[in-house]
Amino acid sequence: MSQTPAYKRILLKLSGEALMGDDSYGINRATIEAIVGQVKEVVDLGVQVGVVIGGGNIFRGVSQAASGMDRATADYMGMMATVMNALALKDAMENAGIIARVQSALTMQQVAEPYVRGKAIQYLEEGKVVIFAAGTGNPFFTTDTAAALRGMEMNVDIMLKATKVDGVYTDDPKKNPEAVRYQTLTFDEAIGRNLKVMDATAFALCRDQGLNIKVFSIFKQGALTRVVLGEDEGTLVHC
Ligand code: UDP
Repeated sequence: MSQTPAYKRILLKLSGEALMGDDSYGINRATIEAIVGQVKEVVDLGVQVGVVIGGGNIFRGVSQAASGMDRATADYMGMMATVMNALALKDAMENAGIIARVQSALTMQQVAEPYVRGKAIQYLEEGKVVIFAAGTGNPFFTTDTAAALRGMEMNVDIMLKATKVDGVYTDDPKKNPEAVRYQTLTFDEAIGRNLKVMDATAFALCRDQGLNIKVFSIFKQGALTRVVLGEDEGTLVHC
């Protein structure tokens, strides 16, 4: 097996839920350590890694707005939840021997550096993992969109969208045993078949800017490395 990575620089989108494991809320230690273990493997291959982390395991603005809270206020709380996850991820990375930096789109000087594009690129070039916190810094957006945005700003080779399912399927594989995983899909095919890859804003951004997306499962042992080595893992959505 070749150990030459197919990508030099990647943007990994991790949802907040990815950190929960089997818990119903918050951060599960064993789960975060397993994810960090996968990241370490690709860092050790010399791949530059940026991470956008979600916040849905702690706070989701939309559901709070639905229960009567002002949407923008709820969204700012959601963004702050992503900062908590980012700090937990950085801590777990440092325990695993990865040098990581957190850059936040909302200024919180005491806990994280502000997002500065040039500095983030410099960190990546130095082999440090950059964790982008607080989404885009704007309410009414999601961390999927933040991942698309930061991915483009960092000129990454690919966006890796980590999910619980190991790719995009013809149908829900949990409900339909006949469902088949797509190896590759074009953006137009994904739209035409009404397949949900990322939220619509993020998807449109990636499509317009030609940033390919790989959907894969972060819960499958070694999956991130296989993706980075260009092996048949997950689903590639391409132009
Ligand atoms: N959020 C926001 N603007 C952003 C990114 C996130 O307002 O640019 C808020 C929004 O309330 C969202 C919450 O932060 O519900 C958590 O983000 P997201 O739902 O994307 O997290 P994930 O589903 O990836 O865990």
